Amino acid sequence: MRPADLNPLFAAASALRGIGPKTGALLDRLLGRKGQPARVIDLLLHLPHATIDRRARPKIRDAARDAVVVIEGRVTAHHPPGNTRGRAPYKVLIEDDTGDVTLVFFLNNFAWVEKALPIGTTRWVSGKLESWDGHLQMVHPDRVMDEEGLKALPAVEPIYGLTDGLYPRILTKAVEAAVGRMPDLPEWLEPNRAILLGWPSFADALLAVHYPTSPSVLDPQSQPMQRLAYDELLASQFALATVRGRMRDNNGRPTIGTGVASDRILAALPFRLTAGQEEALAEIRADMAGPKRMLRLLQGDVGSGKTIVALLAMATAIEAGHQTALMVPTEILARQHFERLTTLGAHAGITVALLTGRDKASERAKTLEGLANGAIALVIGTHALFQDSVVFQDLGLIVVDEQHRFGVAQRLALTEKGRSADMLLMTATPIPRTLVMTVFGDMDASAVREKPAGRQSIETRAAPIERLSEVVAAMQRSIEEGARVYWVCPLVTESEEVDLVAAEERFETLCQVFGDKVRLVHGQMKPAERDAAVADFASGEARILVATTVIEVGIDVPEASIMVIEHAERFGLAQLHQLRGRVGRGQARSSCLLLYKAPLGETPGARIMTMRETEDGFRIAEEDLRLRGEGELIGTRQSGLPSFRVANLDHHAKLLTEARQDAADLYATDPTLKTPRGEAMRRLLYLFERDAAVRLIEAG
Ligand code: ADP
Ligand code: MG
Repeated sequence: MRPADLNPLFAAASALRGIGPKTGALLDRLLGRKGQPARVIDLLLHLPHATIDRRARPKIRDAARDAVVVIEGRVTAHHPPGNTRGRAPYKVLIEDDTGDVTLVFFLNNFAWVEKALPIGTTRWVSGKLESWDGHLQMVHPDRVMDEEGLKALPAVEPIYGLTDGLYPRILTKAVEAAVGRMPDLPEWLEPNRAILLGWPSFADALLAVHYPTSPSVLDPQSQPMQRLAYDELLASQFALATVRGRMRDNNGRPTIGTGVASDRILAALPFRLTAGQEEALAEIRADMAGPKRMLRLLQGDVGSGKTIVALLAMATAIEAGHQTALMVPTEILARQHFERLTTLGAHAGITVALLTGRDKASERAKTLEGLANGAIALVIGTHALFQDSVVFQDLGLIVVDEQHRFGVAQRLALTEKGRSADMLLMTATPIPRTLVMTVFGDMDASAVREKPAGRQSIETRAAPIERLSEVVAAMQRSIEEGARVYWVCPLVTESEEVDLVAAEERFETLCQVFGDKVRLVHGQMKPAERDAAVADFASGEARILVATTVIEVGIDVPEASIMVIEHAERFGLAQLHQLRGRVGRGQARSSCLLLYKAPLGETPGARIMTMRETEDGFRIAEEDLRLRGEGELIGTRQSGLPSFRVANLDHHAKLLTEARQDAADLYATDPTLKTPRGEAMRRLLYLFERDAAVRLIEAG
């Protein structure tokens, strides 16, 4: 249970005083998640990313150009636009004893200008000074103040990330209201540690950052920022320590296979394992044979052949008399794995079953029975596998595909189903070595680096969306020659994001050209319809599959050779890479076309450049990490990297090391958080959403 003193922070942001429904909706868009509105805590942890320093009061002659400054001046003349047609500006001249500035306003409300800037008065204006035609001008000052207004001006103004329609002042007001909700919290840092470093409390650190007295407060090395980053790292490290502790307490057992089933599967494969696959498999088998419970991460680019490695590991467990489960994030993926593994398993006498949320009651009962009595050796399933009704006779190995789609809590729920089951986590987003530790703690990791022989390289190009008709014409030719095309659009309709091309709209336009050769899949479709669409595409009856990012996860149609990604600028690098990996799996020459909306920002531009330059997932992961922190990635959460809100490992690596130790010490002395410090620590886990660990503790 969440400690009651935290409740005010977990209320919806829209319930804050002064926040109406319209602002509430904007806050949800900015800070909410799927199915969860923006909360007070989200506002508190939405830290400013920059400041405007308004402390300087330069004379007009000395004021910096192209930077925000506050100028004091006497209002000397008004030049209304007169009768000119079109949009002529209203100009106001102000001057001091060193020069003058023309204030330029494009607006209809002239009365406002006359009232705010009466001739003969002294006024302070804030904005960017530009030279124009030899004169200084300031277009739309962000503030026009009299003496009173000047007094109210914050000396250092925090700048926050926004969303379309949300104005800085409204957000600032919301943050202020959120800060007002901050309860008195007990200290979770060891007192002497905090004093030693002279850090402020959590609440004071938040205050310092939201009301900066100098721009240096936002420096990652400032005490408030260090405090907040440390808190976040400590929360995540303690959660990991808990998970690890649980795994360790629950001792493993040696699993050694006979090799019979694996050999039959190998013999049935139309290819040989690559050296990388062999090596990863050997590492996994060595872990399984050992007395400790396995917790291993298998990293490998999309298409590097992780599934077969997992299947052979499962065969080993089955040879030793255990059952195995393969957990996947989507139904489509589950079915696909089911088809492939049933065929391969048949060669080795392995009974494979499928368990999703959509099975017929009678089928489901049969599957549950087979799992309980041991008749089913290998089950593939979605979240349905966690349910209480799912009981195994003897679950020995759990494989989690696309592990980043699952939370720690979900993985654990499955772990509980096997007595000391080994666990293999697979990820197609290679994670830089330094981060494996951060995300997974002391987890072992294997990597499949090389691609299976004969893989074609994928030609990657980029074009602005204006060239759509050319693209469609070129596609027409390719399709006549037999190509199959994935066409990815970022969102499904009904979203308010006006300029996002909805998948449904694109589907319509493509249907006009390609008739019944086009299918559509998106997350909100009925699963049966979705599966039918994918099946048509896989069989070749359809040639174009228009999709939202649901296809990111694992669809395997080797005949698909063209990937078009619309609004490529909106995707994170890891996601682009995953999507591209859907093609280049078969014989045909493959290509990937990134359609973007111009003008390209610096970071999206760099991402697209990286995509064009390399197909090496490990390099892309490093580059992704470098570009990250610009904070505008969609898909940060999907990338498999930890999503820290405050901590930034470029700056806080040293804090991470300390937090690891701190967390380990705390777990060693107070694993169930019973001491006063432990009680305080529970709050920290909730604040940074590591409360899965708390539930784990409470589950006993
Ligand atoms: P991922 O790592 O993305 O899960 P998969 O396991 O789905 O990759 O493998 C992608 C494709 O490569 C599959 O069609 C699989 O049969 C094939 N494949 C796997 N290993 C090899 C290999 N050693 N040689 C040739 N093809 C392989
Ligand atoms: Mg896979």
